[in-house]
Amino acid sequence: MSITNNLKEIKTNLPESCLIVAVSKTKSSSDIMQVYESGHRDFGENKVQELTQKAEELPKDIRWHMIGHLQRNKVKYIAPFIHLIHSVDSEKLLQEINKQALKNDRVIDCLLQIHIAEEESKFGLDSAEAEQILNNSIDEFKNVQIKGLMGMATNTKDIYQVRKEFKFLNNLFHSHKESKKENVTMEWLSMGMSGDYLIAAEQGSNMLRIGSAIFGARNY
Ligand SMILES: *Cc1c(COP(=O)(O)O)cnc(C)c1O
Repeated sequence: MSITNNLKEIKTNLPESCLIVAVSKTKSSSDIMQVYESGHRDFGENKVQELTQKAEELPKDIRWHMIGHLQRNKVKYIAPFIHLIHSVDSEKLLQEINKQALKNDRVIDCLLQIHIAEEESKFGLDSAEAEQILNNSIDEFKNVQIKGLMGMATNTKDIYQVRKEFKFLNNLFHSHKESKKENVTMEWLSMGMSGDYLIAAEQGSNMLRIGSAIFGARNY
């Protein structure tokens, strides 16, 4: 199957309200252009250098999503153009994003990344840290808009475990839907990857980050 057919096939399995972020990390510009030419505009990368390089050489109407762990000293490279940062995993990072957004005279849309998996290795805030940001510190960060939450489930074949983790994130998302904060608008719940996107959609995800199921396996 071709890359564009893969994407088409995935879309038929998901509700219309779901946005697919095509995760193009390690993939070539010509692979990305195949998807672009089918009309798709949302692409995700997890490394700042690769992201800025691709953003420079590819069409300017692509909406670039930063989905990987972001170091504070690299925020400045993506601040001028990034569409959505999915991976805000500390208040200090949010503070730096706010600072760089201000410098670029814009508001940067962000998701808070919540640690929902059993694995130690995955980045993210716990719910107490997220509550602290959403209920308090966000007031200081006028140049960021919190648009929702992101999470990665445990990499396991146990679908009950995965479902439980997604459900937890969906609950946290909904508990802030009525937030009175001007810069908190819970619109996007970013969860689900190639292996678990159907479970994620079933659990309320409306933003799926899908790489290998579209572009094929990655060779590192
Ligand atoms: C690579 C990556 C994905 C996509 O993974 P696939 O299994 O290839 O779909 C999704 N989210 C994050 C944060 C990633 O780093």
